[in-house]
Amino acid sequence: MDSGNPSSEGSADQSSLVSEEGKNVKAVVCQRCGSKVLCPGTAVLAEKELFLPSMRKKNTITQADGTLDGDTLTAHWLVDDMYTFENVGFTKDVGKVKYLICADCEIGPIGWHNLDDKKSFYVALDRVNHQ
Ligand code: ZN
Repeated sequence: MDSGNPSSEGSADQSSLVSEEGKNVKAVVCQRCGSKVLCPGTAVLAEKELFLPSMRKKNTITQADGTLDGDTLTAHWLVDDMYTFENVGFTKDVGKVKYLICADCEIGPIGWHNLDDKKSFYVALDRVNHQ
């Protein structure tokens, strides 16, 4: 990969989003309404395979039980405390999982949380914009 292309779109080049400490260099914002989810430097990059249903409005995320289309994503911002978020919403529980959604426009899921692990909140890089 050559690095001489400043006009490439945000999520394509992960290295420009991650600091040397593995933290987010840029603010994480909603792709749809621009609501700020995380401030720069508040999350660490984590690689974990998580299945996220396709983006849609909150009340339909959890409807189609087990038959959801979606993506298995591996690059996430990991936050260990929900108070680290500037703004975030949650779906109702889906088994032991809650999905993270935009607090303002309720589009999602943008991330994933397991109720068994209170200190892990994942936000998928592909589901957010970086500013
Ligand atoms: Zn939004």
